[in-house]
Amino acid sequence: MVRINENYNKLQASYLFADIARKVEEFQKANPDTDVIKLGIGDVTRPLPARIVKAMHDAVDDMASSEGFHGYGPEQGYAFLREAVAKNDYQDKGCDISADEIFISDGSKCDSGNIQEIFSADAKMAIPDPVYPVYLDTNVMAGRTGEVVDGRYEGIVYLDGNMENGFVPELPTEKVDVIYLCYPNNPTGATATKDQLKTWVDYARENDAVILFDAAYEAFITDDTLPRSIYEIPGAREVAIEFRSFSKTAGFTGTRCAFTVVPKECRAFNAAGEKQMLHPLWNRRHNTKFNGVSYVIQKGAEAVYSPEGKKEVQELIAYYLRNARMIRDTMNEIGLACVGGENSPYIWIETEGSSWDLFDKLLNEAGVVTTPGAGFGKCGEGFIRISAFNDYEKVEEALKRIKKAFQ
Ligand SMILES: *Cc1c(COP(=O)(O)O)cnc(C)c1O
Repeated sequence: MVRINENYNKLQASYLFADIARKVEEFQKANPDTDVIKLGIGDVTRPLPARIVKAMHDAVDDMASSEGFHGYGPEQGYAFLREAVAKNDYQDKGCDISADEIFISDGSKCDSGNIQEIFSADAKMAIPDPVYPVYLDTNVMAGRTGEVVDGRYEGIVYLDGNMENGFVPELPTEKVDVIYLCYPNNPTGATATKDQLKTWVDYARENDAVILFDAAYEAFITDDTLPRSIYEIPGAREVAIEFRSFSKTAGFTGTRCAFTVVPKECRAFNAAGEKQMLHPLWNRRHNTKFNGVSYVIQKGAEAVYSPEGKKEVQELIAYYLRNARMIRDTMNEIGLACVGGENSPYIWIETEGSSWDLFDKLLNEAGVVTTPGAGFGKCGEGFIRISAFNDYEKVEEALKRIKKAFQ
């Protein structure tokens, strides 16, 4: 009798998006003339920058000629893209990262979900709460957790975020092996300072641990004192893997391109307690289970680093950040406490009651859809997330209605 992987049965069903959809449908039925505005979107909304589109078109033309045709590419990604990434995202910013430490992939979701495969089944995982659900669910599937007790999986060390710590958790009291961090954060929009990241890097070095740093929203950092990469922290090369994506940076959520950085010195330990490097492990995993991102898309990603591409991407980010600032200002005006929205497209808003109370108020009184924070973990209860990924005019109209609802 073929048996299933029972770990999948431990996964908590998420009714969040189904519940949101049902509430929106009911509201729309009762208010057919209201133009419902969705500020819950965790996806970009603006078109791809022109320079990137041109690079993709040119690459398609390459594929149509016998000289320019490309079949399977290198599994780690084309050198033209890895070199552009290493130079522009790291070396020019003072980080010691080389092209052969970069692995091009079709998304940070897959990479941040798959990375746990290279660690032992009994590795102790520390996962922030609230956070992007992928880190937790992939560890549940892999069998690193027990059942859910009181809303939390046994076996996971949760790192609690709250208004007091600004959603940058304190070090765990018990020893952990792998630590997931995401800054600027989804869903809270919180950022971590260099000193805060240094605390984690020092912890990882002292405790033979590894940090998995998700920097998917790095492009939204405008405050130059904030770190854009974990490798800005001395000693991080030995203890940190970084995930980056073109999804939120350059509008690639639909075209798919991202990368993972595994420095050559980054280490873990084998059963004998001997040091073993993670680069060859991830290389083996990547080459065995992945066959590369298409040439056309990698050509598009390369164009992100061209002078025109950089300018267009900056304009794109500035567009969303203007929305974010406007949302944050309105929340301050109506007296709702919030974090994020300054170096992030997300604004995380504290409510008096439950997440759903504020969600319902904004839907029923303003026709605006948000995301209840409870969907991102236990510590997300009592918060909602508002996203800046939308048209400026729509955000402006939504905020006008929200202000009125609070008058
Ligand atoms: C959007 C997002 C990503 C990017 O995922 P892709 O698969 O590259 O589109 C990664 N991490 C977080 C926290 C995100 O919100």
